[in-house]
Amino acid sequence: MSKGNISVQAENIFPIIKKFLYSDHEIFLRELVSNAVDATTKIKTLALKGEVKGELGDTKIEIKINKDAGTLHILDKGIGMSEEEVNKYLNQVAFSSAEEFLEKYKDDASIIGHFGLGFYSSFMVADKVEVITKSYQQDAPGVRWECDGNPEYTIEQNDRTERGTEIILHINDDNLEYLEESRIRELLNKYCKFLPVEIKFGTRTETTYEGEGDTKQEIKTEVDDIINNPHPIWKLKPSDLTDEDYKKFYNELHPFSQPPLFWIHLNIDYPFNLTGILYFPKLTNNFEVQKNKIQLFSNQVFITDDVKEIVPEFLMLLHGVIDSPDIPLNVSRSYLQSDSNVKKINTYISKKVAEKLQSLFTADRKAYEEKWKEVSTFVKYGMISDEKFNEKASSFALLKNLENEYYTLDEYKEKVKATQTDKHNKVIYIYANDINTQHSYIKAAKDYGYDVLEMDTIIDNHYMQHIEYKGNEVTFVRVDSETPDNLVQKDETKESVLSQAEQDKVKDIFTKSVKNLGMGHIELKALSPTDHPVMITKPEFMRRMKEMQALQGMDMNMFPDSHNVVINTNHPLISDKLVKMKSEDKKADFANYLHDLALLNQNMLKGEELSLFITRSLDFIK
Ligand code: ADP
Repeated sequence: MSKGNISVQAENIFPIIKKFLYSDHEIFLRELVSNAVDATTKIKTLALKGEVKGELGDTKIEIKINKDAGTLHILDKGIGMSEEEVNKYLNQVAFSSAEEFLEKYKDDASIIGHFGLGFYSSFMVADKVEVITKSYQQDAPGVRWECDGNPEYTIEQNDRTERGTEIILHINDDNLEYLEESRIRELLNKYCKFLPVEIKFGTRTETTYEGEGDTKQEIKTEVDDIINNPHPIWKLKPSDLTDEDYKKFYNELHPFSQPPLFWIHLNIDYPFNLTGILYFPKLTNNFEVQKNKIQLFSNQVFITDDVKEIVPEFLMLLHGVIDSPDIPLNVSRSYLQSDSNVKKINTYISKKVAEKLQSLFTADRKAYEEKWKEVSTFVKYGMISDEKFNEKASSFALLKNLENEYYTLDEYKEKVKATQTDKHNKVIYIYANDINTQHSYIKAAKDYGYDVLEMDTIIDNHYMQHIEYKGNEVTFVRVDSETPDNLVQKDETKESVLSQAEQDKVKDIFTKSVKNLGMGHIELKALSPTDHPVMITKPEFMRRMKEMQALQGMDMNMFPDSHNVVINTNHPLISDKLVKMKSEDKKADFANYLHDLALLNQNMLKGEELSLFITRSLDFIK
């Protein structure tokens, strides 16, 4: 037996390991199992090259708990270590890299969680660690290494005869949870579920049946409980997989979810290595809950489900897995964003998503249109936030009108150009965001031969602005922002049947009786006699300012609610009835009544004013 001192410098990292790494204690298991996987992969590679004598035999990794002894065991049948290697790898390499790592990152536990400090992370949870190992090389004797959390270690020969390594952790009093089966199972599930070597944790009972009818017998057998799936489908070739395989895997990742709309299998090895599957989920309205559903792996080892910097922001609502050894995990989050591999990965993912949508659109437009409602959130958000995606998406982004017809941006412009180009040569897109309240406005616009789009999701305001901003010579106006004749401003003006003097008089009556106009005004117009006599309009610009304010949580009073009152001088109730009334009081009453009707039509008559209106209407009927 020999003794040694791990570090040449007297500086002791063990207290640091124990104290600083509070939050991520649990990753020790991932680190140790990953080492076991590496050792197993290495022996398999050597065997393939013919450098291992005899059969490899079983290469399962095993995790065991010995509660009485207070120990947790990680066993592998991998490459093992000779005495010289233990000295080199555990006492020097592993120690100094852990030390270096801690020096650099002891203040940033999130990185330690991602990266881990390898073998030495076991001292976060153990008072004493034993390693019993035997190299695959013939004649190499077994070795036992032991260290109790001081820089001192002992190393001695051991009579182990099997190739491979056993790590024994003597769990300390503060971390007894790691002697609980349920806790270890939880961690194996979290970090090791897709590791490429079978991992056994205890046994389970398998029930089979033999015979038929009366002689049917239940047979129970104890079998190894393998906790992982060593061949997750993202590592397989898409051509070898069916839709069912993808749906099954989705279900494995997100039990009880609705089936996904479609998915993208990512697979690239140059200029960076990345595999994975991204699913387009059926969206519910609760976006927040749906975030963090992409899991990041590195060589099948789970790293995190917070992929903010790695996946383009607009795709954060997707579900699935990304596996890349080329994402630098040992750097801070802010650095990640500027990393060139991460940037390329971002671009790649966004390009793949665009290609997938394009191919769905081209292959079966009807089916694509049926999915549009759900896909549109991604597409619109993507177009607004990602220039490259925007370019590609302009050929498969759709607009839907109230007739339930779908058009690409180009198709729509072509459709409405003839009737909806205004005197400034802008094409006007008319939209509704609430078909119930805006019903009469929609009808009026349609009567003028205009098409009306449905724009009723949260993101649509931004999306419309984006389309306008992209210089398509297009302007959106809400259907109630103007009187229907003026939605698309043309040069022609209708003649009023009233003389100028009569018009002035009408304006005077309304000015006196209409209150609460805010910044709005009263306006006389010669519309068609079939248009309403009085109309409320909410000018597009003012309304947008107000909506923006509300979104930014600003003081709502900076722009007071304002609307215009438009009086149709060609409507018989104005041109005939109102002007011919004798009493001034009657005129004011009548003007008020018409105004109330217009407010009612916009769902703007509320409270006391609504009650008064009802009372007055009842009086009229009497
Ligand atoms: P890393 O795995 O990042 O190299 P570690 O500190 O986890 O760092 O391990 C240091 C070295 O110790 C490994 O590179 C490997 O050579 C050796 N080692 C650790 N665990 C095992 C094991 N189970 N079997 C064989 N070698 C191992």
